[in-house]
Amino acid sequence: MIDVPKQLFIGGTWVDAADGATMPVDNPATGEVVCHVADAGTKDAQLAVDAAVRVQEEWAATAPRARSEILRRAYDIIVSRTDELALLMTTEMGKPLAEARGEVAYAAEFFRWFSEEAVRIEGGFGTLPDGRNRMLLMRRPVGPCLLITPWNFPLAMGTRKIGPAIAAGCTMVLKPAPQTPLSSLVLAEILREAGLPDGVLNVVTTSRPGEVVEPLLRGGRIRKLSFTGSTQVGKLLLEQSAEQVVRTSMELGGNAPFIVFDDADLEKAVDGAMVAKMRNMGEACTAANRFFVHRDVAEEFAVRLAARMSALNVGPGTEPGVDVGPLIDQNGRRKVERLVEDAVQRGARVLAGGRTPTGPGSFYPPTVLSRVSPDSDLMGTEIFGPVAAILTFDDEDEVLRRANDTEWGLVGYVFTESLDRALRVSERLEAGMVGLNTGLVSNPAAPFGGVKQSGLGREGGRVGIDEFLDYKYVAVPVT
Ligand code: NAD
Repeated sequence: MIDVPKQLFIGGTWVDAADGATMPVDNPATGEVVCHVADAGTKDAQLAVDAAVRVQEEWAATAPRARSEILRRAYDIIVSRTDELALLMTTEMGKPLAEARGEVAYAAEFFRWFSEEAVRIEGGFGTLPDGRNRMLLMRRPVGPCLLITPWNFPLAMGTRKIGPAIAAGCTMVLKPAPQTPLSSLVLAEILREAGLPDGVLNVVTTSRPGEVVEPLLRGGRIRKLSFTGSTQVGKLLLEQSAEQVVRTSMELGGNAPFIVFDDADLEKAVDGAMVAKMRNMGEACTAANRFFVHRDVAEEFAVRLAARMSALNVGPGTEPGVDVGPLIDQNGRRKVERLVEDAVQRGARVLAGGRTPTGPGSFYPPTVLSRVSPDSDLMGTEIFGPVAAILTFDDEDEVLRRANDTEWGLVGYVFTESLDRALRVSERLEAGMVGLNTGLVSNPAAPFGGVKQSGLGREGGRVGIDEFLDYKYVAVPVT
């Protein structure tokens, strides 16, 4: 494995936690400890905010082209180090190497995209309706940001926030998930090599996120929180952010419907299902959670999907030919087991998988359940594992009502060959994103995000940088 920094990155210096504490990083394929990294406490986090606050003004005044070129250089470095970064990610998170390489490319693209956006931050000028007054619109960085990321995409969730923050001229403290700190620590090293000035990015790894984050949000110096993680934690952080009216972007959980109409191309639908379900072993906020398949094609779809799922190779992500790695940890696996048991007890048929293997690591097999009862727990819970739950429906209004019957609204997938229906259903689905005859929506050039309890704001696309900028209006009377 590559030599990774294991300390906190504060003000451009690698330092131990003030109390010397460390925390283990596990390999989910073996259950073994890979290494230990610094385990920050509240004092360390305050020092990181001090560093971010100290350089905010100077960083905001840096030429956009200079910020752009730092991102572009970091993009080049990440791409040139793809194989070692992928191996590191597989080691701490479990996904197969091919998927990890895909994530490295996806993560790097956020830097390339925002290197291009950094020099295109536009204000405005206008004559007000009275014909006399003029309006000057400036764009200003929001100020020091707190970025909190989950473990499922250890590199890309970081670059998706760091990229626009750097482009906008914000300084930041990044707090990665405790399960996967290594990718973020290497990213800090890469950005330093790319020329990022000291203090602009600070990285604080901790096993005590609640204790460390709350004082930062209540402290009045952090001006923006960008969070990706569960809806439950997101709500807590929204409450904490309210005290100082901290601006927030929230990328939260999902419960994606995957709808296959009777006029769908079934081959395309099964291909799409494999991606929407199995990308990242199902540990994705965009993962298809509820498969609604028209009654006339449900049996055929289920059989074909089960055949494809059964053919996947499960094993350590570093082994050649492996399609499905371990889940993140034993807790994640127990949750999946419990949801499958509940569905089976309520009458679901197991067409593939469904049995936990013995041996080390938190592996779970690709599983297909048909005839799932609508009152099963997995209908209202993010499965976060390789389990496809199939239900049937009879008509369009009914399936839309059922698909929208959830507090989440991140993404929905629709398979139909009718253009009319495709547009109608895309409009009526309560979701921030729709995959139309495709199982993949994520793209750095597109605005990613949800409605309802799936979040607030968008990441990526032309609007991604707006989350890190304020408007300033200057009134100018002309006599
Ligand atoms: P999580 O909410 O448990 O943790 C996310 C982050 O929040 C981690 O860094 C964690 O350390 C931190 N955290 C946990 N408790 C905290 C607290 N009390 N105060 C401050 N920070 C705290 O989520 P997870 O298990 O790491 O990730 C999976 C979740 O993330 C799923 O719900 C998934 O849908 C969601 N997710 C959403 C998106 C999206 O873009 N919408 C992308 C990826 C993952």
